[in-house]
Amino acid sequence: MSVAYALINQAALQHNISIVRRHAPDANIMAVIKANAYGHGMSRVARMLAVAVDSLAVARTDEAVALRKQGITAPITVLQGFMGHDELMCYADYQLTAVVHQHEQIQLLLNASLPQKIAVWLKMDSGMSRLGFLPTEWAAVYALLQNSEQVQQPFGVMTHLASADEVDCRQSTQQLQRFEALTRQHIGAKSIANSAAVLACPGAVTDWVRPGLMVYGVSPFPNQTAADLGLKAVMTLKSRLISVKTVPQGETVGYGGLWRCRQDTRVGIVSIGYGDGYPRYARNGTPVLINGQVVPLIGRVSMDMLAVDLSALPEAKIGDTAVLWGEGLPVEMIARYAGTIPYTVLCGITPRVEMIEQ
Ligand SMILES: *Cc1c(COP(=O)(O)O)cnc(C)c1O
Repeated sequence: MSVAYALINQAALQHNISIVRRHAPDANIMAVIKANAYGHGMSRVARMLAVAVDSLAVARTDEAVALRKQGITAPITVLQGFMGHDELMCYADYQLTAVVHQHEQIQLLLNASLPQKIAVWLKMDSGMSRLGFLPTEWAAVYALLQNSEQVQQPFGVMTHLASADEVDCRQSTQQLQRFEALTRQHIGAKSIANSAAVLACPGAVTDWVRPGLMVYGVSPFPNQTAADLGLKAVMTLKSRLISVKTVPQGETVGYGGLWRCRQDTRVGIVSIGYGDGYPRYARNGTPVLINGQVVPLIGRVSMDMLAVDLSALPEAKIGDTAVLWGEGLPVEMIARYAGTIPYTVLCGITPRVEMIEQ
Protein backbone atom coordinates (compact mmCIF):
# COMPACT_ATOMS: atom_id res chain seq x y z
CA MET A 1 0.00 0.00 0.00
CA SER A 2 1.28 3.46 -0.82
CA VAL A 3 1.58 5.99 2.00
CA ALA A 4 -1.14 8.25 0.58
CA TYR A 5 -4.28 6.38 -0.38
CA ALA A 6 -8.01 6.86 -0.77
CA LEU A 7 -10.55 4.39 0.54
CA ILE A 8 -13.60 4.11 -1.70
CA ASN A 9 -16.59 2.95 0.30
CA GLN A 10 -18.97 0.91 -1.82
CA ALA A 11 -21.64 0.75 0.92
CA ALA A 12 -21.66 4.55 1.20
CA LEU A 13 -22.11 4.83 -2.55
CA GLN A 14 -25.13 2.51 -2.46
CA HIS A 15 -26.50 4.35 0.57
CA ASN A 16 -26.31 7.68 -1.27
CA ILE A 17 -28.21 6.20 -4.21
CA SER A 18 -30.94 5.22 -1.73
CA ILE A 19 -31.07 8.89 -0.65
CA VAL A 20 -31.50 9.92 -4.29
CA ARG A 21 -34.36 7.41 -4.56
CA ARG A 22 -35.94 8.79 -1.40
CA HIS A 23 -36.06 12.28 -2.95
CA ALA A 24 -37.06 11.07 -6.41
CA PRO A 25 -38.96 7.83 -5.82
CA ASP A 26 -40.55 7.71 -9.25
CA ALA A 27 -37.61 8.94 -11.27
CA ASN A 28 -34.94 7.05 -13.15
CA ILE A 29 -31.42 7.82 -11.98
CA MET A 30 -28.65 8.82 -14.34
CA ALA A 31 -25.57 8.84 -12.09
CA VAL A 32 -22.99 11.34 -13.28
CA ILE A 33 -19.48 9.84 -13.33
CA LYS A 34 -17.68 12.40 -15.51
CA ALA A 35 -14.17 13.61 -14.63
CA ASN A 36 -13.04 10.21 -13.40
CA ALA A 37 -16.19 9.98 -11.27
CA TYR A 38 -15.35 13.21 -9.46
CA GLY A 39 -11.92 11.76 -8.69
CA HIS A 40 -13.24 8.41 -7.38
CA GLY A 41 -12.24 6.36 -10.43
CA MET A 42 -14.65 6.18 -13.35
CA SER A 43 -14.45 2.46 -14.12
CA ARG A 44 -14.63 1.51 -10.48
CA VAL A 45 -17.70 3.66 -9.81
CA ALA A 46 -19.34 2.52 -13.06
CA ARG A 47 -18.90 -1.09 -12.00
CA MET A 48 -20.19 -0.39 -8.48
CA LEU A 49 -23.25 1.49 -9.75
CA ALA A 50 -24.07 -0.52 -12.86
CA VAL A 51 -27.03 -2.31 -11.32
CA ALA A 52 -28.01 0.34 -8.75
CA VAL A 53 -28.89 3.05 -11.25
CA ASP A 54 -30.77 3.26 -14.53
CA SER A 55 -28.02 4.95 -16.51
CA LEU A 56 -24.59 6.48 -16.21
CA ALA A 57 -23.60 9.89 -17.56
CA VAL A 58 -20.21 11.17 -18.65
CA ALA A 59 -19.18 14.46 -20.26
CA ARG A 60 -17.34 13.24 -23.36
CA THR A 61 -17.57 10.49 -25.93
CA ASP A 62 -14.10 9.11 -25.16
CA GLU A 63 -15.12 8.57 -21.53
CA ALA A 64 -18.13 6.55 -22.66
CA VAL A 65 -16.15 4.50 -25.18
CA ALA A 66 -13.57 3.72 -22.48
CA LEU A 67 -16.36 2.39 -20.25
CA ARG A 68 -17.74 0.19 -23.06
CA LYS A 69 -14.26 -1.20 -23.72
CA GLN A 70 -14.08 -2.12 -20.05
CA GLY A 71 -17.26 -4.12 -20.42
CA ILE A 72 -19.79 -1.71 -18.91
CA THR A 73 -23.09 -2.50 -20.61
CA ALA A 74 -25.37 -0.09 -18.68
CA PRO A 75 -26.92 2.78 -20.65
CA ILE A 76 -24.49 5.71 -20.89
CA THR A 77 -25.46 9.28 -21.73
CA VAL A 78 -22.78 11.63 -23.05
CA LEU A 79 -23.60 15.11 -21.75
CA GLN A 80 -21.67 16.98 -24.45
CA GLY A 81 -22.74 14.65 -27.25
CA PHE A 82 -20.69 14.17 -30.43
CA MET A 83 -18.45 16.42 -32.50
CA GLY A 84 -17.95 15.31 -36.08
CA HIS A 85 -19.10 12.28 -38.03
CA ASP A 86 -16.62 9.74 -36.63
CA GLU A 87 -17.66 10.50 -33.10
CA LEU A 88 -21.33 10.22 -34.10
CA MET A 89 -20.67 6.71 -35.43
CA CYS A 90 -19.45 5.69 -31.95
CA TYR A 91 -22.99 6.25 -30.63
CA ALA A 92 -24.36 3.60 -32.94
CA ASP A 93 -21.37 1.29 -32.57
CA TYR A 94 -21.27 1.42 -28.78
CA GLN A 95 -24.96 2.11 -28.08
CA LEU A 96 -24.39 5.45 -26.40
CA THR A 97 -27.01 8.11 -25.76
CA ALA A 98 -26.17 11.58 -27.09
CA VAL A 99 -27.14 14.95 -25.73
CA VAL A 100 -27.84 17.13 -28.78
CA HIS A 101 -27.42 20.80 -27.98
CA GLN A 102 -26.28 22.69 -31.08
CA HIS A 103 -27.08 22.97 -34.78
CA GLU A 104 -23.97 21.24 -36.15
CA GLN A 105 -25.00 18.11 -34.26
CA ILE A 106 -28.46 18.22 -35.82
CA GLN A 107 -26.94 18.58 -39.30
CA LEU A 108 -24.57 15.65 -38.68
CA LEU A 109 -27.49 13.53 -37.54
CA LEU A 110 -29.69 14.46 -40.49
CA ASN A 111 -26.91 13.77 -43.00
CA ALA A 112 -25.65 10.53 -41.46
CA SER A 113 -26.78 7.05 -42.28
CA LEU A 114 -26.24 5.12 -39.09
CA PRO A 115 -26.30 1.31 -38.85
CA GLN A 116 -28.94 1.75 -36.14
CA LYS A 117 -30.97 4.57 -34.62
CA ILE A 118 -29.40 6.28 -31.65
CA ALA A 119 -30.97 7.46 -28.41
CA VAL A 120 -30.93 11.22 -27.92
CA TRP A 121 -31.65 13.89 -25.33
CA LEU A 122 -32.46 17.26 -26.90
CA LYS A 123 -31.13 19.97 -24.63
CA MET A 124 -32.73 23.33 -24.00
CA ASP A 125 -30.78 26.34 -22.77
CA SER A 126 -33.42 27.61 -20.38
CA GLY A 127 -31.19 30.29 -18.87
CA MET A 128 -27.74 28.97 -18.01
CA SER A 129 -26.33 30.04 -21.38
CA ARG A 130 -23.99 27.07 -21.59
CA LEU A 131 -25.21 24.15 -23.74
CA GLY A 132 -28.59 23.90 -25.42
CA PHE A 133 -31.01 25.47 -27.86
CA LEU A 134 -32.65 28.73 -26.91
CA PRO A 135 -36.39 28.71 -26.33
CA THR A 136 -36.77 30.72 -29.56
CA GLU A 137 -35.12 27.91 -31.59
CA TRP A 138 -36.74 25.03 -29.74
CA ALA A 139 -39.80 24.28 -31.89
CA ALA A 140 -37.75 24.12 -35.10
CA VAL A 141 -35.02 21.79 -33.82
CA TYR A 142 -37.57 19.67 -31.98
CA ALA A 143 -39.41 19.09 -35.27
CA LEU A 144 -36.17 18.21 -37.06
CA LEU A 145 -35.36 15.50 -34.53
CA GLN A 146 -38.93 14.20 -34.55
CA ASN A 147 -38.64 13.64 -38.27
CA SER A 148 -35.16 12.13 -38.15
CA GLU A 149 -34.73 8.51 -39.21
CA GLN A 150 -31.52 8.31 -37.20
CA VAL A 151 -33.14 9.01 -33.84
CA GLN A 152 -35.03 6.63 -31.56
CA GLN A 153 -38.52 8.05 -30.93
CA PRO A 154 -39.63 9.48 -28.67
CA PHE A 155 -36.34 11.13 -27.71
CA GLY A 156 -35.82 12.83 -24.33
CA VAL A 157 -35.69 16.52 -23.51
CA MET A 158 -33.48 18.05 -20.86
CA THR A 159 -32.16 21.26 -19.40
CA HIS A 160 -29.67 22.22 -16.69
CA LEU A 161 -30.16 24.66 -13.81
CA ALA A 162 -27.59 27.38 -13.14
CA SER A 163 -28.38 28.08 -9.49
CA ALA A 164 -30.07 25.04 -8.00
CA ASP A 165 -27.70 25.22 -5.02
CA GLU A 166 -28.81 28.71 -4.03
CA VAL A 167 -31.40 29.49 -1.39
CA ASP A 168 -32.92 32.14 -3.63
CA CYS A 169 -34.56 29.98 -6.28
CA ARG A 170 -35.81 32.72 -8.61
CA GLN A 171 -33.44 31.73 -11.42
CA SER A 172 -34.45 28.06 -11.10
CA THR A 173 -38.12 28.96 -11.12
CA GLN A 174 -37.69 30.99 -14.29
CA GLN A 175 -35.73 28.18 -15.96
CA LEU A 176 -38.34 25.60 -14.97
CA GLN A 177 -41.13 27.80 -16.34
CA ARG A 178 -39.38 28.25 -19.68
CA PHE A 179 -38.66 24.53 -19.98
CA GLU A 180 -42.14 23.49 -18.92
CA ALA A 181 -43.82 25.95 -21.29
CA LEU A 182 -42.07 24.45 -24.31
CA THR A 183 -42.18 20.77 -23.35
CA ARG A 184 -45.77 20.47 -22.14
CA GLN A 185 -46.79 18.39 -25.16
CA HIS A 186 -43.64 16.26 -25.13
CA ILE A 187 -44.42 12.57 -24.68
CA GLY A 188 -40.85 11.34 -24.16
CA ALA A 189 -38.71 11.57 -21.04
CA LYS A 190 -37.78 14.85 -19.33
CA SER A 191 -34.70 15.50 -17.21
CA ILE A 192 -33.70 18.60 -15.24
CA ALA A 193 -32.29 17.92 -11.78
CA ASN A 194 -28.67 17.75 -10.65
CA SER A 195 -27.87 16.94 -7.00
CA ALA A 196 -28.87 20.33 -5.61
CA ALA A 197 -32.19 20.22 -7.46
CA VAL A 198 -32.88 16.61 -6.38
CA LEU A 199 -32.42 17.70 -2.76
CA ALA A 200 -34.06 21.11 -2.76
CA CYS A 201 -36.18 21.66 -5.83
CA PRO A 202 -39.02 19.11 -6.07
CA GLY A 203 -40.35 20.91 -9.17
CA ALA A 204 -37.21 19.87 -11.04
CA VAL A 205 -37.61 16.17 -10.27
CA THR A 206 -39.04 14.68 -13.46
CA ASP A 207 -38.70 11.31 -15.24
CA TRP A 208 -34.91 11.28 -14.96
CA VAL A 209 -32.63 12.88 -12.38
CA ARG A 210 -28.89 13.45 -12.93
CA PRO A 211 -27.15 13.48 -9.55
CA GLY A 212 -23.37 13.72 -9.40
CA LEU A 213 -21.93 15.23 -6.23
CA MET A 214 -24.47 13.72 -3.83
CA VAL A 215 -23.73 10.23 -5.13
CA TYR A 216 -20.25 10.67 -3.67
CA GLY A 217 -21.73 11.70 -0.34
CA VAL A 218 -21.00 15.40 -0.59
CA SER A 219 -23.37 18.31 0.02
CA PRO A 220 -23.91 20.78 -2.82
CA PHE A 221 -25.05 23.45 -0.35
CA PRO A 222 -22.85 25.82 1.67
CA ASN A 223 -25.29 25.85 4.59
CA GLN A 224 -26.08 22.12 4.85
CA THR A 225 -23.63 19.33 5.55
CA ALA A 226 -23.70 15.91 3.95
CA ALA A 227 -24.72 14.52 7.35
CA ASP A 228 -27.69 16.96 7.46
CA LEU A 229 -28.76 15.50 4.13
CA GLY A 230 -28.23 11.89 5.22
CA LEU A 231 -25.31 11.40 2.82
CA LYS A 232 -22.16 9.40 3.56
CA ALA A 233 -18.71 10.28 2.21
CA VAL A 234 -17.56 7.72 -0.35
CA MET A 235 -13.89 8.76 -0.42
CA THR A 236 -11.66 8.96 2.63
CA LEU A 237 -8.21 10.30 1.82
CA LYS A 238 -5.50 9.10 4.16
CA SER A 239 -1.78 9.23 4.70
CA ARG A 240 0.71 8.97 7.57
CA LEU A 241 3.00 11.04 9.72
CA ILE A 242 6.53 10.58 8.38
CA SER A 243 8.22 13.00 10.78
CA VAL A 244 7.48 14.38 14.23
CA LYS A 245 9.81 16.83 15.91
CA THR A 246 9.93 19.88 18.12
CA VAL A 247 10.57 23.08 16.22
CA PRO A 248 12.05 25.86 18.39
CA GLN A 249 10.14 29.02 19.19
CA GLY A 250 10.55 31.72 16.55
CA GLU A 251 11.31 29.34 13.66
CA THR A 252 8.97 29.25 10.66
CA VAL A 253 7.43 26.20 9.03
CA GLY A 254 7.35 25.47 5.30
CA TYR A 255 7.99 27.37 2.07
CA GLY A 256 7.80 31.11 2.37
CA GLY A 257 7.99 30.94 6.16
CA LEU A 258 4.29 31.68 6.44
CA TRP A 259 3.78 30.17 9.88
CA ARG A 260 5.94 30.97 12.89
CA CYS A 261 6.21 28.96 16.12
CA ARG A 262 5.12 31.12 19.05
CA GLN A 263 6.68 28.57 21.36
CA ASP A 264 8.56 25.31 20.96
CA THR A 265 6.08 23.31 18.88
CA ARG A 266 5.59 19.63 18.06
CA VAL A 267 5.31 19.67 14.28
CA GLY A 268 4.17 16.64 12.33
CA ILE A 269 4.84 16.14 8.63
CA VAL A 270 2.18 14.19 6.72
CA SER A 271 3.13 12.55 3.45
CA ILE A 272 0.55 14.17 1.19
CA GLY A 273 0.60 17.41 -0.79
CA TYR A 274 -0.64 19.15 -3.86
CA GLY A 275 1.08 16.48 -5.99
CA ASP A 276 -1.62 14.17 -4.66
CA GLY A 277 -4.37 16.73 -5.12
CA TYR A 278 -4.46 18.16 -1.62
CA PRO A 279 -5.29 21.82 -2.32
CA ARG A 280 -2.26 24.11 -2.06
CA TYR A 281 -4.53 26.99 -1.10
CA ALA A 282 -5.69 25.29 2.12
CA ARG A 283 -5.17 27.93 4.79
CA ASN A 284 -3.40 27.73 8.14
CA GLY A 285 -5.85 26.05 10.47
CA THR A 286 -7.39 23.70 7.91
CA PRO A 287 -8.40 20.65 9.97
CA VAL A 288 -6.49 17.37 9.60
CA LEU A 289 -7.38 14.27 11.62
CA ILE A 290 -4.44 12.54 13.29
CA ASN A 291 -5.50 9.35 15.07
CA GLY A 292 -9.07 10.61 14.80
CA GLN A 293 -8.35 13.96 16.46
CA VAL A 294 -8.45 17.35 14.75
CA VAL A 295 -5.17 19.26 14.47
CA PRO A 296 -4.49 22.37 12.38
CA LEU A 297 -2.55 22.52 9.13
CA ILE A 298 0.35 24.98 9.45
CA GLY A 299 2.44 26.64 6.77
CA ARG A 300 2.13 26.22 3.04
CA VAL A 301 1.22 22.84 1.55
CA SER A 302 4.19 21.37 -0.38
CA MET A 303 4.07 19.01 -3.36
CA ASP A 304 4.47 15.83 -1.31
CA MET A 305 3.98 16.94 2.27
CA LEU A 306 2.12 19.17 4.64
CA ALA A 307 2.75 20.18 8.24
CA VAL A 308 0.42 20.00 11.22
CA ASP A 309 0.69 21.43 14.73
CA LEU A 310 0.67 18.46 17.12
CA SER A 311 0.63 20.51 20.35
CA ALA A 312 -2.73 19.02 21.27
CA LEU A 313 -1.51 15.47 20.53
CA PRO A 314 1.73 14.88 22.46
CA GLU A 315 1.43 11.12 21.88
CA ALA A 316 1.42 11.40 18.08
CA LYS A 317 4.29 9.50 16.46
CA ILE A 318 5.72 8.52 13.11
CA GLY A 319 3.45 6.11 11.24
CA ASP A 320 0.23 7.44 12.77
CA THR A 321 -2.69 7.79 10.38
CA ALA A 322 -3.80 11.12 8.99
CA VAL A 323 -7.24 11.65 7.45
CA LEU A 324 -7.27 14.58 5.04
CA TRP A 325 -10.98 14.33 4.22
CA GLY A 326 -13.81 11.82 4.12
CA GLU A 327 -15.26 9.90 7.04
CA GLY A 328 -15.10 12.19 10.07
CA LEU A 329 -13.87 15.21 8.11
CA PRO A 330 -16.14 16.48 5.32
CA VAL A 331 -14.38 17.47 2.09
CA GLU A 332 -16.79 20.44 2.02
CA MET A 333 -14.91 21.84 5.03
CA ILE A 334 -11.52 21.40 3.36
CA ALA A 335 -12.89 23.14 0.27
CA ARG A 336 -14.03 26.08 2.40
CA TYR A 337 -10.61 26.44 4.00
CA ALA A 338 -9.07 26.32 0.53
CA GLY A 339 -11.45 28.96 -0.83
CA THR A 340 -13.04 26.59 -3.32
CA ILE A 341 -15.88 24.07 -3.71
CA PRO A 342 -15.78 20.33 -3.02
CA TYR A 343 -16.09 19.53 -6.75
CA THR A 344 -12.62 20.95 -7.51
CA VAL A 345 -11.03 19.31 -4.48
CA LEU A 346 -12.34 15.86 -5.44
CA CYS A 347 -11.54 16.24 -9.14
CA GLY A 348 -8.02 17.30 -8.19
CA ILE A 349 -6.98 13.91 -6.80
CA THR A 350 -4.00 12.76 -8.86
CA PRO A 351 -3.12 9.27 -10.14
CA ARG A 352 -0.37 8.95 -7.51
CA VAL A 353 -3.05 8.35 -4.87
CA GLU A 354 -3.78 4.65 -4.69
CA MET A 355 -7.51 3.86 -4.55
CA ILE A 356 -8.59 1.01 -2.32
CA GLU A 357 -12.11 -0.38 -2.48
CA GLN A 358 -13.81 -1.06 0.80
C1 LIG B 1 -22.24 17.59 -13.92
C2 LIG B 1 -23.66 17.61 -14.33
C3 LIG B 1 -24.65 17.08 -13.50
C4 LIG B 1 -24.37 16.63 -12.08
O1 LIG B 1 -24.23 17.75 -11.26
P1 LIG B 1 -24.02 17.64 -9.67
O2 LIG B 1 -24.07 19.05 -9.22
O3 LIG B 1 -22.68 17.03 -9.47
O4 LIG B 1 -25.11 16.80 -9.15
C5 LIG B 1 -25.94 17.00 -14.01
N1 LIG B 1 -26.23 17.44 -15.25
C6 LIG B 1 -25.30 17.99 -16.07
C7 LIG B 1 -25.70 18.46 -17.42
C8 LIG B 1 -23.99 18.09 -15.62
O5 LIG B 1 -23.08 18.65 -16.44
